[in-house]
Amino acid sequence: MMNAVARGVRRSPADTPLMRQFLEVKADHPDAIVFFRMGDFYEMFFEDAVIAARALDLTLTTRDKGREDAVPMAGVPHHAGRSYLARLTELGHKVVVVEQTEDPRHAKGLVRREVVQIVTPGVVIDEEVLDPKRARYLAAVVAGKGGFGLAHLDASTGELRATSVTDGEALAGELGRVAPRELLVAKGEAAVPRLAGCSLTETEPPSGGEADALLADLVVDGETGGAALARRAAASCVSYARATQPVGTLPVVRLQLYRIGDSLVLDETAIVNLELLETILPPSGNERRQDRRAGSLLAVLDDTVTAPGGRLLRRWLLYPLVEVAPIRRRQDAVEHLVLRQAVRERVRRELGEIRDLERLAGRASLGVATPRDLGQLCASLRRLPALAEALAAGAHELPQLLAIAPELLAELAEVETELAAALVDEPPPVVKDGGVIRDGFCPVVDENRRLADGGRDAILAIEQRERERTGIPTLRVRYNRVFGYYLEVTRSQLARVPADYVRKQTIATGERFVTAELADLEARILAAQETLVAREAELFRALVGQVARRTGALLRAAAQVAAIDVCAALAQLAHTSGWTRPLCDDGELLEIEEGRHPVVERMVAAGDFVPNDCQLDPAGRQILLITGPNMAGKSTYMRQVAHIALLAQMGSFVPARAARIGLVDRIFTRVGAADNLARGDSTFMVEMRETAAILAGATRRSLVVLDEVGRGTSTFDGLSIAWAVAEYLHDAIGCRTLFATHFHELCALAETRPRVVNVQAAAREFGGRIVFLRQIIAGGASRSYGIEVARLAGLPKSVLGRAREVLAELDRARMSDQQLPLFRRPPDPDPDPDPDPDLRARLAALDVDRLTPLEALNLLADLHTSALGASAPEVRRDRGS
Ligand code: ADP
Repeated sequence: MMNAVARGVRRSPADTPLMRQFLEVKADHPDAIVFFRMGDFYEMFFEDAVIAARALDLTLTTRDKGREDAVPMAGVPHHAGRSYLARLTELGHKVVVVEQTEDPRHAKGLVRREVVQIVTPGVVIDEEVLDPKRARYLAAVVAGKGGFGLAHLDASTGELRATSVTDGEALAGELGRVAPRELLVAKGEAAVPRLAGCSLTETEPPSGGEADALLADLVVDGETGGAALARRAAASCVSYARATQPVGTLPVVRLQLYRIGDSLVLDETAIVNLELLETILPPSGNERRQDRRAGSLLAVLDDTVTAPGGRLLRRWLLYPLVEVAPIRRRQDAVEHLVLRQAVRERVRRELGEIRDLERLAGRASLGVATPRDLGQLCASLRRLPALAEALAAGAHELPQLLAIAPELLAELAEVETELAAALVDEPPPVVKDGGVIRDGFCPVVDENRRLADGGRDAILAIEQRERERTGIPTLRVRYNRVFGYYLEVTRSQLARVPADYVRKQTIATGERFVTAELADLEARILAAQETLVAREAELFRALVGQVARRTGALLRAAAQVAAIDVCAALAQLAHTSGWTRPLCDDGELLEIEEGRHPVVERMVAAGDFVPNDCQLDPAGRQILLITGPNMAGKSTYMRQVAHIALLAQMGSFVPARAARIGLVDRIFTRVGAADNLARGDSTFMVEMRETAAILAGATRRSLVVLDEVGRGTSTFDGLSIAWAVAEYLHDAIGCRTLFATHFHELCALAETRPRVVNVQAAAREFGGRIVFLRQIIAGGASRSYGIEVARLAGLPKSVLGRAREVLAELDRARMSDQQLPLFRRPPDPDPDPDPDPDLRARLAALDVDRLTPLEALNLLADLHTSALGASAPEVRRDRGS
């Protein structure tokens, strides 16, 4: 009874000052999980606690045990907070970090708490969470008249780019290439495609005027068609990201506008099918991301030694150039380093000493840089002159990309001098324990450090003095957090303790004492220490501000170092793998002499890779129709041609004896349903949608790779579609095309279409076995080696035998008059005589409409018998020749 009454008058657990403080934050961030700092823990409450407990495998508890209206609670220790936070954002959650912003010892009543950071899937600046070699993008789409604005921002480095597109297809393509982790869209915007691994966040995009205000301080480079929409999208990213950083300034100093056509267009399909970032199939069947990355073109290319270099290389790969001059500039830089091994090696050693300048500058700008960060920044800046010197060694004139501007070096040298003057040699990871500022930099620091150190020395001196005074050789001065400094005397010596010692504590081995002198020294040390640390923190903040003011110069230097790193890595690769400089021009030819597949070449034993030539020309050899058995090397050949074009246009050397690339505006790919099966979307619809996109988007300058189009449906359907697609590419588009197919009937196209050329991935039979020569030779393949491959794969003899029978039957059906007129061979100059004129006559006499089912069956049985007697051996003889 008493209990019930008591419970009735007690306030609800949600109605306490602490909970009200929490709920205030929550009201501002209803869509986020709030990490609420309480002492050594980040606590989560209510629904947040339930979600987090499930996601992070935490125990769900409550502060109000036994009550029905108890508030659910879950917590993580603050030192592990970052990793829990990372897991939540990886799952697509937004997290608001609330810290105690006053010392609880000095707080009157409730400790003041403030939102210090908001971490969302797209806005992450934590070093531990970020992939060093990959940018993390927040993207925004703004729809308007004439299309969409699309922007992406990496908050850790301030990279901000925006473009505009006219249709949903192009929007999806570019979003696929950017691969943002979070996408900002207006409420109810329906046109935005779903992206794997990307969270959608609804925000109201800024108006044109608001966008101008938000972007006012930025340097805007480049141009794009619908610049107004692009700018609004960029402003949307900036405003959203800015709101997540209540404390510092986003390191955004530049907005780069671009047109989709400024670079070779690669949509998500091409990126996947060409295995640029990951392989389609995991090498051993297990779905480890790591393994799939290892087999990608990026993995082969990425020999960069710095993180910004790694990020830039990825960018170069995904945005190859489409103009001759900038391609040649990159090639010049790569070549310079290919030809100078000693320079290259020295440059790469110097690069290895330079940390992630971009993200360090970003953290300084955001106000989250630690003393260690600034220390690394300082040490990295110190290496720049040596890098510039290494590059210049023995060269009269440096390629533009490799020359670091002297003004930039001078400005950064200033930053370095300032940092070096202020910071100790190896700064600690946090400010709060002091030890950050170098001796001699600030009189206040020096004075208090001297006092604190002096106090400690004085205390040590006391130990010596007291030992002599009391004759206790084991007397010790010690320190703990509860008593501060004290004297410890072992049990056997207690009789010698003088009267002025004040006993504080008895322990098993002896007793602990304090003296007035010790207490006084301790107070002085503490006071000095406190002033010291406060002053150090102040100086450090100022230092961070000083660096932040140089964000622009730091980012410029970082970009240049990254480019040097990429060129050096490509040069290293060209050197070790025997790659050559391709000729890129505005012509239409694509000629490769002894080309190799950059990835497969590494997988097979040294020297086992068979190089192949390729000539493509919209005016002559426009479509290469590639036939040949499974596993003969068709896909490898087609991908290698696409890779070589792509590598050439990103400025790299290529795996070929020689190559000439008439610039490609876009690479399209379509890979057969069988391969797609592994990705889980094998519908014929997907195949046709991709084919439709190619036919709609390809130009005469495009490179189209088609692998087994039409495989996802019945034979006749598939063949018909493949046929019509090839004709359209030939008649209407004229683009350079590699077309692998298992429909041998397609070879007949070459007879009516002058720019279709048949080639085959050669295979030979030796003693009933198939041998792949890995050579692409002229002419169409005549028969399928599928069954032979099946035999090699170990299918049972009986199944293989039966397969041969069925194949013969099918071939016979195909040879007969029942085949579609489309596939009929051109009229033979000396046609075979009609094999069975009687049969023909009987069939012609039939009135099919009047036939009963029984009559039909009888007739069929009759015909079958006579057919076995007469025609079958004829056909067999045919096949054998
Ligand atoms: P297809 O597309 O004709 O079925 P692939 O291109 O997938 O055949 O090639 C099958 C395998 O053959 C590849 O995984 C590779 O190991 C090997 N291969 C392909 N081309 C070559 C080549 N030029 N030299 C050496 N091995 C090759």
